[in-house]
Amino acid sequence: MLAPEVETRPWAQQLELDDASYREQLAYLFERSGFYRLKLTPAGFESAEAAGGLGEIERLPLTDKDELRATATPENPVGAHLCAEPSEIVRIYSTSGTTGTPSYIPLTAGDLDNWVTTSARSYSASGVEPGQRIVSTYAAGPFAAGAALEAFERIGLTHVPVGTGNTDRLVRAIELLRPEAAVMTPSYAAYVVEWAAERDFHLAGSSVQHVLVAGEPGGGEPAFRSKLEAGWGARVTEAMGVGDIGVSLFGECELQEGMHLGGRDFVHAELIDPQSGEAIEMEDEATGELVLTHLRHRAAPLLRFRTRDHVQVWTSPCACGRTAPRLRCIGRTDEMLIVRGVNVFPSAVREVVGAFGSQVSGQIRVRPQVPGPKQEPPLPVSVELAEGACADSSLAEAIRERLREVLVVQTSVELVPWRSLERSEYKSKLVER
Ligand SMILES: [Zn+2]
Repeated sequence: MLAPEVETRPWAQQLELDDASYREQLAYLFERSGFYRLKLTPAGFESAEAAGGLGEIERLPLTDKDELRATATPENPVGAHLCAEPSEIVRIYSTSGTTGTPSYIPLTAGDLDNWVTTSARSYSASGVEPGQRIVSTYAAGPFAAGAALEAFERIGLTHVPVGTGNTDRLVRAIELLRPEAAVMTPSYAAYVVEWAAERDFHLAGSSVQHVLVAGEPGGGEPAFRSKLEAGWGARVTEAMGVGDIGVSLFGECELQEGMHLGGRDFVHAELIDPQSGEAIEMEDEATGELVLTHLRHRAAPLLRFRTRDHVQVWTSPCACGRTAPRLRCIGRTDEMLIVRGVNVFPSAVREVVGAFGSQVSGQIRVRPQVPGPKQEPPLPVSVELAEGACADSSLAEAIRERLREVLVVQTSVELVPWRSLERSEYKSKLVER
């Protein structure tokens, strides 16, 4: 463990410490954030004292990415939630956003240090150790993921960046530099397995013992994970961040039972019902949208930020000794489809299909027939066959039946040949409209 005194702290004690940090953060927001003064005052909270402590956080309004974006002006392109002076800002990341206009994420030196600390905690949970080598395949560019790379040095690893989309360079680095670990998106990890198989390169026999995946959901899906683990001959653990809040805030330990909140001390996590916005209790197996609140952020702190990530949480003790709650991301709420009242995540469809092991490749496409989340059954799903498997109607029927049982959704399953669905060297697209 990177910081045992923090990571094994009893959770009740953590919440007490967080309550004090939260009250200070609220006072800071009332003093410096035009955005939150304007948001909280009409909601009936005229001061930090009126807003209360962490136990009462559910009374406060939620914050949406679009609201922040709407306050950006030519004079202040970050938005009205910017709290720090220009001279205090040491870095500005951006997110591409769906509209094409970037939104900016400023950090003070202290903020950046917190990002690197929490990221280092999340990644070190995977079992990588000081003195080992890690090869990374991110071309982070303007994106917050770049800060995660600094975490590798913080852990004490030797970092070998090879960039994205150059599998030859990656494999050469693995052969010659013999790293113990590699970090990439789960889609790329799967791509490399197929790439190696086609070239008779024995990936499972390489020096890599840990594959750390992040950037999209999927690394924790049992069938998908076991495929990656067999292909790489390595343990696969996942990590997850939320651009506007912090990079790699969550990281899985070697027991692979969900990602621990490595960002403890720095953020507070809640669950809500994405439709009603009502709080959902954090307890074993609970699912909902992840909402995060900064506890000690300076440049642009956020309160009850809707991440749009739909997650499942576990709060019972983990045998690794870390006391932070764990979660797995099921999918993005904006990818969620509603089929006759039932919520369906494309990644959950992939997980169910993945259980058909040797008969399927693991690649799927969900093909909604009308725009928007609401769909009429049956929902069309293309399932790619494994190499050498043949399309028989009983397999399609068995998959359709399993999807109905597990996800309570009526689908029409089309089996498509091996290699007919496009692969990604970065993040997979599970929905095609
Ligand atoms: Zn654990």
